[in-house]
Amino acid sequence: MTALEVLHTYWGYDGFRPMQEEIIHQALEGRDVLAILPTGGGKSVCFQVPCLMREGIGLVITPLIALMKDQVQNLMDRGIRAMAIHAGMNRHEVDLALNNAAYGDYKFLYLSPERLQTRLFQSYLDVLKISYIVVDEAHCISQWGYDFRPSYLEIGKLRERVDAPVIALTATATPLVADDIMDRLHFQEKNLLRSGFERPNLSYIVRKAQDKTGQVRSICEGVPGSGIVYVRSRARTQELAESLKAAGISASYYHAGLGAQTRADRQKDWKEDRVRVMVCTNAFGMGIDKPDVRFVVHADVPDSPEAYFQEAGRAGRDGKPSYAVLLWNGTDTSRLKQLEQVSFPSLESMEDLYQKLHIFFQIPYDEGEGRMLKWDMKEFCQHYHLQQAPTYYAVKYMEREGHWVLSEDMDIPTRIKIEVDRASLYNIDLPDPAMPLVLETLMRLYTGIFSYPTPIDEEAVASRSGVSVAGLRQLLYLLSVNHVIRYIPADHATVLFLQHNRLRPGNVQLSPQRYQMLRSTYSQRVKAMIDFVEEEDECRSRYLLRYFGQEESSDCGQCDICRAAKASPADLPDRLKAWIESRQGNYTLKQMRTAFGTADEKYLDVLRELIDRQEVPPYQE
Ligand code: ADP
Ligand code: MG
Repeated sequence: MTALEVLHTYWGYDGFRPMQEEIIHQALEGRDVLAILPTGGGKSVCFQVPCLMREGIGLVITPLIALMKDQVQNLMDRGIRAMAIHAGMNRHEVDLALNNAAYGDYKFLYLSPERLQTRLFQSYLDVLKISYIVVDEAHCISQWGYDFRPSYLEIGKLRERVDAPVIALTATATPLVADDIMDRLHFQEKNLLRSGFERPNLSYIVRKAQDKTGQVRSICEGVPGSGIVYVRSRARTQELAESLKAAGISASYYHAGLGAQTRADRQKDWKEDRVRVMVCTNAFGMGIDKPDVRFVVHADVPDSPEAYFQEAGRAGRDGKPSYAVLLWNGTDTSRLKQLEQVSFPSLESMEDLYQKLHIFFQIPYDEGEGRMLKWDMKEFCQHYHLQQAPTYYAVKYMEREGHWVLSEDMDIPTRIKIEVDRASLYNIDLPDPAMPLVLETLMRLYTGIFSYPTPIDEEAVASRSGVSVAGLRQLLYLLSVNHVIRYIPADHATVLFLQHNRLRPGNVQLSPQRYQMLRSTYSQRVKAMIDFVEEEDECRSRYLLRYFGQEESSDCGQCDICRAAKASPADLPDRLKAWIESRQGNYTLKQMRTAFGTADEKYLDVLRELIDRQEVPPYQE
């Protein structure tokens, strides 16, 4: 099959998008390739097609568990054999999965980067026939990038042992970062393929606003269709969604602190248009691809142009006119200016925190590697009288340094271990007739269940045993009370995975040079963001393209700056008049807002004046 036939057979698409074919072609030739395509540009296909066309298994390294699961599901839905190994799986499960990967005719193995250095994974390297090393979100390998993850550096080492070409992909790489990625991945030769980052159907609007709630409301009322509103805090998502609902707008809210089921339900409701506007933190949107999002509002200013561009870019994937509106005021810029200070606690305080954290969990020196700690930051901070923000950033910083992995708001599935041996299981008197059925189902579905606490799928077990999920939980609880099983109920928690044994004071050794470097690149990004909102002359699109290294570009003609340059307020009355005339004088305020409200702040004042002077007829209610 040709690449096009593969695309057609498995995905049903008629043709490639810009640059996809070229990237696939180079990969098939065995060249290392770095692909930079915007979010939604179709990066997955760029590595999935070559992996399907070559013998062996594609090793896909990607940082986010949720995305990993999505992609694996997506492939399996197309009849392609794929599996994932991620943080939160225990040794037995990983062993089983790797065994399958080596001997089970799989085409894709998704792996979180922390797994690369484990001895278990290394021991399978010689039997895994790896076709490509795929590095998704490749900017994570660069210390200059906005989302550096030290575990990504292991990929460079992997190349020494695995003889397979690299396909690296990212949506956000400045030229400096792109070069760094190719270095760190030991590219045989530099090979960068990128598509243009212009979004011709997207209007960037940046607006200074004191009353953000009112502004968000009027945008939601003025622009029909689906929308996303990003805010910084979890509490604010709910607050704002409620005030939108009170104004008659169909809205819901989303953040990582909500339970897995709630999040899945809300995401689905929004995706399937039962809810129009989603108010959320940046936890929403990754991996969701909804083509007809008409507007993305940032009610708070993001910390970097990278984050902003990704989030704003979720509007208008279908190519139809869409808006990305960024609201800001002095509070945002002063917060951003303080951010550098807060995000980089002193080195001494971080080394101190390192010890405190181990003491808190009673982990002695030279122990702790591989431990998974349920981390309640609030409780920890109260215990030591620490402030939460610097503590959080210190933990994040130490994560960058490779001391631990922080998984915020993880959904931990129910785990079960059967405590009695198989033979005596049949001699136990069980108080409920459904219990033997449940046990039978568990044994059939999960082979390891006698040896270690095994994650189970409650819904699958319940339906196969003919009970409800609530009923199942009750039965499991009773079984555990009777010491037949060990039952660890599902949980939603923030978890720290310790990467090595506890070091003694003086051995933690955070490098001051690295600290300085990280701090200065961080402050450059924040500054670029502040400059972006305060900018008064350069086209928004141009500014962003230039930031991402695209020097050649033209004015977009539709951002707030371009519009202001084109349409001086002086011609706004004329444009309003012409528009009203084109509708023979029949119009509502709502229609007017749709036509002018998002781009021309002053339309309402001008309209009132025109009506007062009787130059135009009044609007209809
Ligand atoms: P990215 O990783 O670049 O953000 P994805 O790989 O998730 O983007 O793709 C975004 C969407 O575009 C997906 O729904 C994908 O199936 C779709 N897509 C990718 N390539 C094509 C194509 N050639 N034709 C039509 N749709 C495509
Ligand atoms: Mg992707």
